[in-house]
Amino acid sequence: MRKYTGKSVYGSVVVGKVSLPKRKTLAVKRVRVEDIETEKQRLEEAKRISVLQLCEIYRKALVKVGEANASIFEIHIMLVDDEDYNESVYSILESQRVNAEYAVAVTADNFAQMFAAMEDSYMRARAADVRDISDRLIANLLGDLPNIPMPAETENGSVICACDLAPSEAILLDTDKVSAFVAAQGSSNSHAAILARNMGIPVIFGAGEEFLSEIENGEEIIVDGYTGEIYLEPDEETRAFSLEKQLAHGERKRLLTELKGKDNVTLDGRRINICANIGGVDNIGEVLLNDAGGIGLFRSEFICFGCSQYPTEEQQLAVYRRVIESMAGKRVIIRTLDIGADKRADFFGLEREENPALGYRGIRVSLERPELFKIQLRALYRASVFGRLGIMFPMITSVGELSAVLDICGEVKRELKEQGVNYSENVETGIMIETPAAALISDRLAPMVDFFGLGTNDLIQYTLACDRENPNMEKYSDPHHEAVMRLIEMSARNAHENGAWVGICGELAADTTLTEAFIRMGIDELSVAPSMVLKVRDTVRKLDLSV
Ligand code: PEP
Ligand code: MG
Repeated sequence: MRKYTGKSVYGSVVVGKVSLPKRKTLAVKRVRVEDIETEKQRLEEAKRISVLQLCEIYRKALVKVGEANASIFEIHIMLVDDEDYNESVYSILESQRVNAEYAVAVTADNFAQMFAAMEDSYMRARAADVRDISDRLIANLLGDLPNIPMPAETENGSVICACDLAPSEAILLDTDKVSAFVAAQGSSNSHAAILARNMGIPVIFGAGEEFLSEIENGEEIIVDGYTGEIYLEPDEETRAFSLEKQLAHGERKRLLTELKGKDNVTLDGRRINICANIGGVDNIGEVLLNDAGGIGLFRSEFICFGCSQYPTEEQQLAVYRRVIESMAGKRVIIRTLDIGADKRADFFGLEREENPALGYRGIRVSLERPELFKIQLRALYRASVFGRLGIMFPMITSVGELSAVLDICGEVKRELKEQGVNYSENVETGIMIETPAAALISDRLAPMVDFFGLGTNDLIQYTLACDRENPNMEKYSDPHHEAVMRLIEMSARNAHENGAWVGICGELAADTTLTEAFIRMGIDELSVAPSMVLKVRDTVRKLDLSV
């Protein structure tokens, strides 16, 4: 097996066959000419045709990749008439008395080299744009069509391997026939890369000259757009693994095209919210891509990891505000810090414990450090004016604990009001039900809150006495255990009887073999990893609870 690596611009996997397109090479000769006026007319005619072709490409790009990306070709159209570029061509024509294609080729080399030498990586990548329009001008001067590496006879499933990919070539790739593209050169900042990213096939740039010299037409090739890896003569294990990844990607793509924008409603009309769990702002793109109905759990402790000190009120506010604003009015539930057990932040200086899962964690830490807890609550309430916020408290085990928490919330709101700082009166408060104690007294807790978030990861570990960090416990840790199901059902019933809504935000929410049972229990919301949102939607839409 031979392996090469490049920079990928789109994540999917393809197992296919190498196709080496026969590109037309533009042979430009230096020819001395006497009649410079005719050369100038030829150049102007080539420019006119090039602009017409680019307008046509722009129209195709609008359909394929949308207005923002298509604007790349507006820039190309402007480049054809660029003053500096044309001045250079004309000056070569006049001073050297040579043919127009030669003057364009020399200008293209000079401009491309100038861009390639720039420090800024974005500007460096503009060299490819200059080459693209110059090749088009030369092709039109030669009366030839621009060199598009798209052999009409390309077989389905072909992986086109070439030296580079120009933006105009990228947009003309026939993605029904081409399943991936690998370029030996090129940059992932190029306009071609930006376009390729929107076309839904893996495209890799910078695979290296060695790659191109060592491949043959028709060879089996694997292109992994997630990692940028390329395999030739793959071994059995790599082929099997890649085929599995390819299938999973196909399924995700199917879910996206079929289910994006659709309701989470069963065949008999029962609705459920499907939201996403996140650990930070970086996950928002994925949440929006997968069409989640909101954020069901933002594990706020993640913003502390890697920090040398506790994030300030302003720092926290900035993060919460960005998440809330990005969700544009959809509900965002932010859980207050759940530090402790497996989630450690050194600056808290928590002592090592024999049994950390049964120790100092979650709300216990917050209640013992009210000064830090209040900083987080102030940031949360201040962020609440930017959208729809729910605040959720982790590891609750008693009514007294929850009362203390709600008292501190009241104090924080009073202080904000006194200071004239705005916050929303519509913030919902809720608790994680992740200890058997909380589930068993959920009838007492529910009247005190707006919602419950069932944390099944911890609920399972504490109910079944199985450390979630211990791999040897996996065989005992049955997530479908009747005891766990009864606690979930009991909590859901007690929530509803007391006017609270109930969601599940532990991993079990994504177990589609339980989706029907959860809906029958009256669960109002399932919050899952962003990549699982559409899978759960798919399951919900196929259920019929009337039978
Ligand atoms: C849970 O316990 O199910 C949960 C969602 O919280 P975490 O996994 O962060 O402990
Ligand atoms: Mg938990």
